[in-house]
Order: sequence, then C-alpha cells, then structure tokens
Amino acid sequence: MSEPSHQDSPDEVRLISRADGGPVAFGSGWISGVLGILFSGLGLFTVLCIQFPSWLTIPELRGYYTLPTIRALLHIALVSGFLLGLTSLTLRKQKILGSAALTCSLAAALMGGAQVNVDTNSTSSLPVLSLDWFMLNLIFWCAVFVPLERCFALRRDQPIFRHGWRTDLTYFFVSTLAVQWVTIMTLKPAQVLFAWVVDERWRFSIGSQPLPVQIAEILLLTDFVQYWIHRAFHRIPWLWRFHAIHHSAEKMDWLAGSRLHLIDIVLTRGLTYMPLFVLGFIDTALLAYGVIVTLQATFIHANLRFTFGPLRYWIVTPQFHHWHHSDQAEAIDKNFAVHLPIWDWLFGSFHLPGKRWPQSYGIDGAKPTEGFLRQFFWPFS
Ligand SMILES: [Zn+2]
Ligand SMILES: [Zn+2]
Repeated sequence: MSEPSHQDSPDEVRLISRADGGPVAFGSGWISGVLGILFSGLGLFTVLCIQFPSWLTIPELRGYYTLPTIRALLHIALVSGFLLGLTSLTLRKQKILGSAALTCSLAAALMGGAQVNVDTNSTSSLPVLSLDWFMLNLIFWCAVFVPLERCFALRRDQPIFRHGWRTDLTYFFVSTLAVQWVTIMTLKPAQVLFAWVVDERWRFSIGSQPLPVQIAEILLLTDFVQYWIHRAFHRIPWLWRFHAIHHSAEKMDWLAGSRLHLIDIVLTRGLTYMPLFVLGFIDTALLAYGVIVTLQATFIHANLRFTFGPLRYWIVTPQFHHWHHSDQAEAIDKNFAVHLPIWDWLFGSFHLPGKRWPQSYGIDGAKPTEGFLRQFFWPFS
C-alpha cells in the first residue's frame, strides 16, 4: 500500500517500516498485511454494527443502506481480509500484520460473519458510538485523498504511513466514533444559554433569504467568528496549550487535520455555532455549511501541490493553511481563516509568499509528544 518511492529518504523508510520492523517493498507481505487488516477490521466493525445497531449506528444513517447489500459487502470484506492476512503470513518474516488480519476476520466469523443476527433487544436512549459513521468516513476520505495525494503530492517522498499517522488516525477514530456526543456538546450550550436572544422576526427574515445567500452569509460570519477564536487560541497561553496539539503535526496530509484536542473542538465549534443559532438560518443552509467546512478543513491540510492561481487570494487553499502550520519565523501567527483569507487581509495576518511553500511544520518551542492520550492530558500538565 505504501511502497517507498525512489525519493524516500532513509528516515522516511524507517518511519513506515517501524510498525513491525520489516521491509515495505512489493512482495514483502506489507501491502497484503495492511490491506488484510483494513478489510478484516472493517468487516469486524460491520459485524458489531449489525449485531448492536442501537449502540453502534446512527439512526439517521440506517435509512441509507440496506442490510442485504451490507451483508454481501461484509462477506467479500471478510473473505478478502482472511486471504490477504494469509498471504502476508506466507510472504513476511514478521507475522504481526498477517496475524492481526486473521484474528479480526476469525473473530468476525465466530460472531456469525455476514449471517450475524440483529440484536433487536438492545436499545439505547443515550447517544451512541457511531462505528458506522467512522467506517463510512474512513472509506470515503481514503478513496478520495489517498489516490489524489499519490498523484499530486506536494511532498512526493512522504509515505501514506508517515510520522505521526497512528496518533492522527486515533483522533479520526475517536472524533467520528463520538460524533453524536461532540455534536451535543457543541450545539447544546448555544440552545440552552442563548434562546433568550432569539428574535423570531429576525429569524424569519434571515431564514427567508435564498439558500445561496444564506450559505454565503454563514461562511463569512462563521469565518469571522472562527478567525478571532483561532487567534485567541494562539495568543492566550492557556488556550494555546490546547491548540498546540493541532500544531504538533510535523507532516501534513488529509488526516493531519483530525489532530484536535476535544476542548479546542468544543470551544471553537460551540462559539462559532452560537450566532448561527441566534440568527436562525434554515437547516438546509446549516447542513450545506457543515459539508463545506468538513470538506475544506480536510482539504487544506492535504499533501497536495495545487496552488489555484489567483483564486488562492480569495479562498483558503492547502498552501494558505500549510503556512499556518509552519514553524518558520515568517509564518508564526499567520493565516487564521478557514474559508476566506479576507479576514487575514483585513486584520494583518495574511501570509502567502507567491508560489512558495513552507519547508517544515510543527511547533518551535514546548510541544506535546505523539500519542492520543498523552496529548489529551498534556494541556493540563
Ligand atoms: Zn492554529
Ligand atoms: Zn490545521
């Protein structure tokens, strides 16, 4: 899957092969091992989702897929995962990848495999852990960005499994798994604390505008609010401790944007949502904004070399946000916007030096070490 290219530095090769200390070349059992874990892991999660739907799946999502189709795909995933694991075990001296793939597919098979029963007795009144949301996201983002980053990489020597990928994947796993909890934490405070500000006449006139106008207003408004929250996270020392987690990424790709401390997510999203709630934009406009912010926030971290010509001065692109992540002196406290660089223009933090890209990323100073749990407690230490 992540075969080192000729440009790989010895350091990069060491980083990707560190998982089990073995080689990563084609025929070494690395690709079959990684794919085997992916297929059998997704298969095992799917079996769990079918068996415990009310605990592990989002009710709103269930209408979008039919059980017979899922069972057919599950069967293919489990058989593929098993065969790939077996291939890796045969080819590879290090057995951990192959064993993990076989263990997952066998565990799924023991639970019933594609024929697993739906446990109709299990009910949950609490927000669930959205295992189905995690899997759909993982499949979607990997299908879009892995080929894109292979074809149009800014840093061609950066492998898929680059330094820090395990930490970032854990963030991705936790944030998608707990999406319902995080959504409640970000939306509820506004709804409880600021319902008294709501003026129904205002809400009606704002909600009656054409949809594209509402979306444009939301983007301008949220980016203005987000700009100042983001700037505060950089300038206020105790807030910086939380935001430093996001900046501790030393390699940039689509997954690096997931590296966010829970306090950072809840404060930023919660405060950004407050004016949207008070002003009363319609749900369709909020949904469209949700899609745009998710796509753009992922895209601007990607390892992609597109510079977008003059458009890069009007919308936030990977080059703009990569500079935000740079540890070079010229880039410190620059480019806070997520959608529209106009706010950085207006408030003096714009930095986009032609077609130049930063040379390095990370934090120049005290920084947290890798690992989800270590980073969770780091701001409090
Ligand atoms: Zn920042
Ligand atoms: Zn970022």
